[in-house]
Amino acid sequence: MPFDGTDAARQGRGRNNPFSTVPTLLSSLCNPQLRWLLPVAAMLATAAAAEPEAPTTSGIDLAGMNPRVAPGDDFYAYTNGAWLATTEIPADRSSWNMFAALDEETNQRIITLIEGAAKNRMAATPEERLVGDFYTAYMDEAGIETRGLAPLQPRLQRIATIGDKAALARLLGGNLRADVDPLNSTNFFTEHLFGLWVAQGFDDPTHYTPYLLQGGLGMPDREYYLSGTPRMEALRNQYRLHIAKVLRLGGLADAEARAGRIFALEVKLARAHAPREASEDVQKANNPWRREDFAAKAPGLDWSAFFQGAGLDRPVRFIVWHPGAVTGAAALVSSEPLAVWQDYLVYHTLNQFSDALPKAFADEHFAFYGTALAGTPQPQIRSKRALQAANAAIGEAVGQVYVAKYFPPASKAKAQAMVASIVRAFDARIARLEWMAPATKEQARAKLKALYVGIGFPDRWEDYAGLVIDPADAAGNLERAEEFTYRRAVAKLGRPVDATAWCMTPQEVNAVNMPMQNALDFPAAILQPPFFDPAAPDAVNYGNIGATIGHEISHSFDDQGSQFDAQGRLRDWWTPDDLAHFKAATAALVAQYSAYRPFPDLAVNGPLTLSENLADLAGLAAAYDGFRLAAAGRPEPAGAAFTGDQLFFISYGQSWRNKAREAALRQLLIADGHAPDQYRALTVRNLDAWYAAFGVKPGQALYLDPAARVRVW
Ligand SMILES: [Zn+2]
Repeated sequence: MPFDGTDAARQGRGRNNPFSTVPTLLSSLCNPQLRWLLPVAAMLATAAAAEPEAPTTSGIDLAGMNPRVAPGDDFYAYTNGAWLATTEIPADRSSWNMFAALDEETNQRIITLIEGAAKNRMAATPEERLVGDFYTAYMDEAGIETRGLAPLQPRLQRIATIGDKAALARLLGGNLRADVDPLNSTNFFTEHLFGLWVAQGFDDPTHYTPYLLQGGLGMPDREYYLSGTPRMEALRNQYRLHIAKVLRLGGLADAEARAGRIFALEVKLARAHAPREASEDVQKANNPWRREDFAAKAPGLDWSAFFQGAGLDRPVRFIVWHPGAVTGAAALVSSEPLAVWQDYLVYHTLNQFSDALPKAFADEHFAFYGTALAGTPQPQIRSKRALQAANAAIGEAVGQVYVAKYFPPASKAKAQAMVASIVRAFDARIARLEWMAPATKEQARAKLKALYVGIGFPDRWEDYAGLVIDPADAAGNLERAEEFTYRRAVAKLGRPVDATAWCMTPQEVNAVNMPMQNALDFPAAILQPPFFDPAAPDAVNYGNIGATIGHEISHSFDDQGSQFDAQGRLRDWWTPDDLAHFKAATAALVAQYSAYRPFPDLAVNGPLTLSENLADLAGLAAAYDGFRLAAAGRPEPAGAAFTGDQLFFISYGQSWRNKAREAALRQLLIADGHAPDQYRALTVRNLDAWYAAFGVKPGQALYLDPAARVRVW
């Protein structure tokens, strides 16, 4: 589970996410509201302390707070009130927050590196050259305009010459890509009819297995096709118009009529789709199908042609994550006319590559996905989009270039020490639990002991040898990189599982827990200020990146993670009593979040966001313990404006500051596993230490009776 990876309001950092509207020029350092101020107390503390590690910055944004609000009434406003009142969302963003600001800064640094390498191509490393050529092609807007749809002609020709349903099945198989990741990145979206994920088997941790997921929609989720709300109806109309415009730009006649038929087909696909909540339930996903089962279980699609097209004629066992959707789509292949499928494939080909096609395509793509869906007024500048495309296509090559310059070994060592102390704190919490049976505890602690933690960048980089990146072919590069990634995933089948492989790039401002690998990744880009600042007090670092570290660790033990054992096998290792207690405690958290209502017609989805809310709660508690361990024996600095505990919680509250456009927030509430940030900040309500730190009393808006505070770990 990513820390925020699928959060659309945070620009949808998932790979191949068409809803993202990409970064801006605004850097956290040139915006006075975002400057991290150095208060007198911290300066005095620094002067008085002899040890080299004494903080030299407060690490929190004092000017961004609103001290007139009582912490117990509105903690989010207390920690962020002035920032919220003065911050404007940049026009090319659907939201703005610390992640976005740091993302912005990181991207600017990488663009400078890439442009430097492109200018001095002879001196560049192979990775710099690969990234530089990709970037050059993407930036060549004049060349893109001149070539028009020529780069996609072979693909469009293949669609045009499909003569029968067997050929259609072969082409659908040939379009299959490794572009989903249901467990680590919770990325369920692909415009292709299905998505492939290659990972160890649910019941077999030693072998890679192919997982097949639902796909084929152009809008984010089935809700967009089926919900009866006026907003969704309006979006559906806009989407139909969008399809027609794309077809017209592609030179197709009768665009409106074709768009109507394509849309109708997508509605039928959406009806067969599993809802987002069901997608996240691994018990519903563990459906092993042998290759020969497909014809009987999902009739209508010529599966042997499909698997042949996909290069998957060798594997015998598959896991079908969404059996209903696979069956539904296969039936539609049979029942819907070939011509409709051909139009559908032409539309999705153009839609998928829009940003690397002539400007009219890119503009139309943004008008629907950026503005209509997410409320973002203007697209990001080309260089940012070029980098984002490179991150998705050849992410680890970009990562190597970035890490070489921006991730000092000292940061790695300090982050490793912090992870170690929070793991210790978490282990102690498990040992202390009163409700958990000794046998379950033993397994939980064994799982914690076996945890692999990746810091900064992977132990072994991906090798891009054999991938052709042409500095004059933007769309072709995207296509070849996607295919390269797919072939590499398929080639893993049958090979031993690598538990240290990463699923995130080092330049991503994020963190992730990979339940089947029993592993965590903390990319280099999140291990920098303001999330992690070696110059700030421990309290601030523990309240910020510490809570993120705790969040990721705790995913190993939340409602999802607790279904996997130390080896990552999907196996129930809890006693029924333990499970009953866990369920009761989590039910209270579901109720707590379901009561948050950002719009009169739309509340937070408590069950959908449970895993993330639990991770926030357990992560904050473990980070707090880790902080107390680190601070043990050290007196509070005299005359400081805040106690250590106050700093810890303020830092946490500020890490969730976020301004989002209404459309983006609504999209997040429907299709994202994370609660909106303003409510993630309110996790503090469940910690006794928060009440003590700020003197929160009964009668205050956020006060929870001690019995109503949720304690799971
Ligand atoms: Zn998470």
